[in-house]
Amino acid sequence: MVRFEFLGTGNAFLPQGRFHSLLLVDEEILIDTPPTALASLRRRELTSSDIKTIMITHWHGDHFFGFPFLVLDQKYISDREANQKLNVHCPENGTEKLKEICELAYPGSLLERMETNVIFNEKPNGEILGVNGWNFERFEVFHDEVVDPHGYLLTHESGFRLMHTGDSGPCESIESRIIGCDVVVIELGVPDHVNTPFHFRPETLKELANKFPKTMFLATHHYADDINSGKKPYLSNDLPKLPDNVLQVCDEQKFEWADGRLRIL
Ligand SMILES: [Zn+2]
Repeated sequence: MVRFEFLGTGNAFLPQGRFHSLLLVDEEILIDTPPTALASLRRRELTSSDIKTIMITHWHGDHFFGFPFLVLDQKYISDREANQKLNVHCPENGTEKLKEICELAYPGSLLERMETNVIFNEKPNGEILGVNGWNFERFEVFHDEVVDPHGYLLTHESGFRLMHTGDSGPCESIESRIIGCDVVVIELGVPDHVNTPFHFRPETLKELANKFPKTMFLATHHYADDINSGKKPYLSNDLPKLPDNVLQVCDEQKFEWADGRLRIL
């Protein structure tokens, strides 16, 4: 059995009722560390020391600028005795980038802690460090190439396969991996009137979902407000109509995969 949950489901602009897109798997793996990561963990009543492993998709601020706050929280609050190791899988040269933003954010405070307690791994595939029963493959996707964009294919020992597309427009590397995936977490970055090849839009997601009708797509990184936020809409409260095999997820929505079926908890 695998559980995963959306600690945040918004794009960079923070639509009303959504933190930045953030996926938590089995309560110990985080995909990305957006600026709202610590707020998301707090809301979920977890600390950064509960997280064993972080997997970074690419180098846009809404996907990794929260990293220094997680290390800061571990060092001064949630793991003062430095008992925990934090594992980080990231694209090539990411170790230097993450050290750099930690030093920019808190000069002189975090680097030593990173040397002793953070384990970086830039390999493109293999076992997920720090947890049991998971393997991964990181693959290139189609997004601004200066941010070295990637998606992840996570495979559990039970056979369950989850793809996280990262930030991307339609591309062969995503499409060719869909068959064989049980669930695809896909980033829906912009509405249809925004003309960019670097994000999925409702129209392009609809095409993809219709091409793979047996696959369940969970759309996150949403551009639209959460219609149930109870607050005045900020960006757009108009959720697009999408095929039945696409679920537009909300913050704090949880799922379980057991006996070959996906359940909403
Ligand atoms: Zn991006």
